This record gives sequence, C-alpha cells and structure tokens, in this order.
Amino acid sequence: MAADRTPLIAGNWKMHKTSTEAVAFLGELLPRLEGVAGVETMVCPPSIALPAVAELARAAGVRVGAQNMHEAESGAYTGEVSAAMLLDSGADAVILGHSERRELFGETDEALARKLPAALGAGLTPILCVGESEAQRDRGETEDVLERQVVADLAAVGDEQLGDVVLAYEPIWAIGTGRNATPGQAQEAIAAIRSLIARRSQAAAPAARILYGGSVNSDNAAELLAQPDVDGALVGGASLDPDGFAAIVRSAARP
Ligand code: PEP
Repeated sequence: MAADRTPLIAGNWKMHKTSTEAVAFLGELLPRLEGVAGVETMVCPPSIALPAVAELARAAGVRVGAQNMHEAESGAYTGEVSAAMLLDSGADAVILGHSERRELFGETDEALARKLPAALGAGLTPILCVGESEAQRDRGETEDVLERQVVADLAAVGDEQLGDVVLAYEPIWAIGTGRNATPGQAQEAIAAIRSLIARRSQAAAPAARILYGGSVNSDNAAELLAQPDVDGALVGGASLDPDGFAAIVRSAARP
C-alpha cells in the first residue's frame, strides 16, 4: 500500500443475509472494528438490506456499498434499481462488473461504460471489478483482458473523475476457490491496471485505489496488502465471519 492512499477493505456479502440477519451480524462486527484507524471499511449487503445496514454501519464510520445498479435514472426496467435509489437507501458506493454479474447475468462492457458515469454522477463511489479467467491466464492473456475491460468500462468517465473510481483486480480463478493470487501476481496485475489509468491521466493513476479480490482471508491478507500497489481488498466469503473480516480490516490499518 502506498502511504498516500487510504486502504479500503470492502466486504461483498453477495446474496447472503436478510435485513434481520444483517443487523445481527453488524452487532457482532462493529464492536470488533472500534478504535481501528487508518483504513476505510465497507460492507456491501443485498440491496434490500441497505437501509437497515446503513443506519447502523454509517453511524460507526463504516461505508455501505451496493452490489449492482442500472444505469438509467428511472424507467420501465423491471427488477432493477437506480443509483439514486441506492443513495436514498443509504449506500455511498456500488460494486460494478463483478465477474458473477458478467458471467451469470450477462453484464457487458458496454453496459458498464454507461453504469460508471451514472454512479459517479449520482455521487456513488463505483468499485469496478476486472479480472481474467484461468484459461486466459494460462494463455498469457491476463494483461490484454485487463486492458480490454479497463479501457472499455471507463470509456465514458472523464479524466478528472478517474481518480474517484475504485478498481478491484479479481482474477476469476481466485474467487470463492480458496486459491488466492500470490502477492506477486496481485502486485503485477494491479501495477498493470495503474499504468492503464496513467495512459488516460497521469494525475489519476497515483490517486486511484486498486484493490485485490479473490479468496482473501485473515491468514493471507497482510502479505497481499503489503504490496506497493495493492490498496485494499474486496472480500467475499471471509466477509461473512465477523472475526475474520475484522482481522482483515486490522491487517490493513495504519497507525
Ligand atoms: C468476490 O466475490 O468478490 C470475492 C473476492 O470472493 P471470495 O473472497 O470469496 O473469493
């Protein structure tokens, strides 16, 4: 982690926890985060639990993110939610382009190119996920995949707003598999992403936070977070355990 970028640890709860369960979970998690400084913590519950989570989390200084949004302000889009609706429900950030949304729900780079400016325009921090499959890594295509996704997804974001986007390098083969990228692999890919940002804006590249995601847990977090370009973590499975998630947050904290 670079000294001038505040680390961010975000927990992606995916489709886990009702509002009632989320409130009970925060009752376990928030006391474990008391007094931890020098790190931003975020939880990303299912959209329907956002109001209940936001009320407790934000009072404790914990940020709240959604997991997806539609790019339109409103309209005939059954089942979708807009940036303004997320904001009104207490979210201040939104995960976009998670590989599960790309693979299972057909989210495209074209749609993401519309979602990114919509999120920023509404005042939400987008967390844009990018990453290669195992086959793409084996074929030596990792950097090409990252370039394709970063260039396409950020195409409609102005250079002056690039530094406000959080990116997450999430190799698909590491998500939910228990097989994390090595610190060296994470550093290499995240440095490559940072140079893609630098191609657009020299000012944004050192400002943008780029997280690693993929089987982060309390045992491997410190080593991953010690890499100079790794500015935090997007945590799936381990974010559902209050002890484990709090330990990851503590390992990112700076005095
Ligand atoms: C994720 O889904 O973003 C993720 C990183 O999951 P896990 O930590 O479980 O691999």
